[in-house]
Amino acid sequence: MSERVIPLLDQRHPSLPLPTLLSGDDLSAMPLDGLRRPLTDLRISVTDRCNFRCSYCMPKEIFDKDYAYLPHSHLLSFEEITRIATVFVGRGVRKIRLTGGEPLLRKNIEILIEQLAALRTPEGLPLDLTLTTNGSLLARKAQSLKDAGLQRVTVSLDGLDDAVFRRMNDVDFPVADVLAGIEAARAAGLGPIKVNMVVKRGTNEHEILPMARHFQGSGIVLRFIEYMDVGATNGWCMDEVLPSAEVIRLLHTELPLVQLDPTVAGETAERWGYANANGEYDPALGEVGVISSVTQAFCGDCNRARLSTEGRLYLCLFASQGYDLRQLLRDPARSDHELAQTVDAIWRGRTDQYSRLRSLRGPDTASGPGRRVEMSYIGG
Ligand code: SAM
Ligand code: SF4
Ligand code: SF4
Repeated sequence: MSERVIPLLDQRHPSLPLPTLLSGDDLSAMPLDGLRRPLTDLRISVTDRCNFRCSYCMPKEIFDKDYAYLPHSHLLSFEEITRIATVFVGRGVRKIRLTGGEPLLRKNIEILIEQLAALRTPEGLPLDLTLTTNGSLLARKAQSLKDAGLQRVTVSLDGLDDAVFRRMNDVDFPVADVLAGIEAARAAGLGPIKVNMVVKRGTNEHEILPMARHFQGSGIVLRFIEYMDVGATNGWCMDEVLPSAEVIRLLHTELPLVQLDPTVAGETAERWGYANANGEYDPALGEVGVISSVTQAFCGDCNRARLSTEGRLYLCLFASQGYDLRQLLRDPARSDHELAQTVDAIWRGRTDQYSRLRSLRGPDTASGPGRRVEMSYIGG
């Protein structure tokens, strides 16, 4: 087993210096980063806490009762989140995903959803507003989330076998409750629903086919995610990554697939449709996706920024430092215009492409400058 690094109480690294604004910084054009990628997608982490202890994300031995979560005063308030989200929408963001930690643990999350659902793009359109959840509280909350204006949800589910699922969430949570949550989301109209399954070789690859059979033809899109080297605590090693190509090969043995075109630029998942007897895509059977973050980098189209629970802006899932926007939000002298200029300047300076560079170095090299932040802190 690889050696684990025990994080310090504050594993959240010092923030990066904010860019100096120049008086001529105008906001007429939407910002493109150093690799000419626009900023269209914002992921907002609303809590660093979770009621699961998935070993690939919040391993129990690190995230134990002594772990120092952020104190409440460090969290962005709903008003602060909505204000900064409004600024981001003005700079090109069209999709907002709430995440965490477990976002449904954030008290009164429906109020934040109401505020974000009321935002409009400069063209007057609503945002694509979604949320990623472990599904544990979804049966209880699906209807109130829908009523608040949430459009759809992505539910994480790593297997259908109860024993496997309980082992992976590591808090003995039953799979039936997550399935009930998915049904409640469907009944509430929170669709199209996606289900994300992180595949760990030697842990749950035997759940791939049962999961595919279960969701085939259900209208729910199942996506298989390669186990990633995010954070610094999950003891990642390449041996536990099952490449997406192998997932597709395995599915194909029983459920023939044809590759589908991407629906939008920058889509992280490669789409595969279930084929009928003639070998053609059958929309009634639906589709699956594979997210090959390790074996096939998709940095070229990466249009995502991540806002941590305490308001730090991260430009890459594998970053080790972020920009402290909370400091600006809490400074009464700062106008929204200045916030927008700051977002532009930060985005224009972005050159991150961690996965692509890692692939060039070789896929079994999980390294990089500095100690990466945890996924539970910046959100997936
Ligand atoms: N708690 C929520 C959930 O699990 O859906 C939202 C936050 S979670 C960090 C977001 C997504 O990241 C989940 O789909 C989870 O499976 C995925 N994830 C976490 N750690 C991962 C890892 N090491 N490799 C791949 N995906 C990971
Ligand atoms: Fe919690 Fe989601 Fe991380 Fe699992 S993946 S520990 S549910 S934040
Ligand atoms: Fe985007 Fe970073 Fe992931 Fe590349 S590694 S796709 S830049 S988040």
